[in-house]
Amino acid sequence: MPALEQAATAAPATVGFIGLGTMGLPMARRLVEHGYTVRGFDPVEPARAALAAAGGVACASAAEAATGADAVVTMLPDGAVVRAAMLDGPAAAAHAMRRGAVLIEMSSSAPLATRALGDALAQAGIAVVDAPVSGGVRKAEAGTLSIMAGGDLDVIAQVRPVLRAMGSNLFETGALGSAHAMKALNNYVSAAGLIAACEAIQIGRAFGLDPVVMTDILNASTGRNNTTENKLKPFILTERYDSGFGLALMTKDIGIAAGLADALDRAAPFSHAVADFARQALERLGREADHTAVDRYLKLLNGERDAG
Ligand code: NAD
Repeated sequence: MPALEQAATAAPATVGFIGLGTMGLPMARRLVEHGYTVRGFDPVEPARAALAAAGGVACASAAEAATGADAVVTMLPDGAVVRAAMLDGPAAAAHAMRRGAVLIEMSSSAPLATRALGDALAQAGIAVVDAPVSGGVRKAEAGTLSIMAGGDLDVIAQVRPVLRAMGSNLFETGALGSAHAMKALNNYVSAAGLIAACEAIQIGRAFGLDPVVMTDILNASTGRNNTTENKLKPFILTERYDSGFGLALMTKDIGIAAGLADALDRAAPFSHAVADFARQALERLGREADHTAVDRYLKLLNGERDAG
């Protein structure tokens, strides 16, 4: 039985985990709970300390985390950071990985760059599965993420137990990069729904509608979406804007979707409009802003108009 499948029963397999941020840390904790030896790296010291407190091994570099690993998980801001963590310089993970080990690339990254990374790592005998996730921090903590997986079916089968420890839905999407394409397209649709819902609430409020009543009606009607069901009341109407998914990450994802349309020579004017809106909101609100703060950006635009 391959080592990764033995974890729950016999000698635990070893997983390197690179990127212990909002999502990565709870996902790494799930692997520890499932019996894996988890060797984690993040440049942020408190993140490494939190992994160690949960029973993982805190490592000083990506290469150290990858040493002796059967699989390495990356959960990083984007594909450029992943490529650097895998390949750039002596502290990069690929140098420490054995032939036959698997990279499970779980960040939301650009699909064509993922294919290029797969080609580069194949030369070192390292297979790659792209396995981005859907669902936020709470689903990461509960191990109930939806995971899309692209790549060779045998390699996906090899790492399935690792994926199952972090997610309850697993979809196979096709060749390497296809899961990253699917993830970006999903987040584009989700972002379009977020912006539409925030605009509608603000227009309705200006007309005299009650935002709470509007939310209830949207949720009982055809305008219902993930934002109306899960974000309007807790994060947007309260102006808390702290859902845990950054505006910078959302903007990156929409840009990937719009860029993919360009690369495939598809007419996609709406995805470009959504991407432009997100970029402008990010420029105005800054990189620390939550994605739900696009509502605040709309309020700023309206304030400027009302003042002018
Ligand atoms: P985050 O910014 O909280 O975490 C990223 C972590 O990577 C940080 O802790 C950072 O210190 C670390 N990092 C940066 N460079 C590194 C390097 N070279 N080596 C090791 N670690 C490094 O982001 P997040 O919210 O956890 O998102 C991670 C990925 O998951 C992103 O691609 C995002 O788009 C995707 N995602 C996020 C959510 C969410 O709800 N937050 C949901 C689904 C997918």
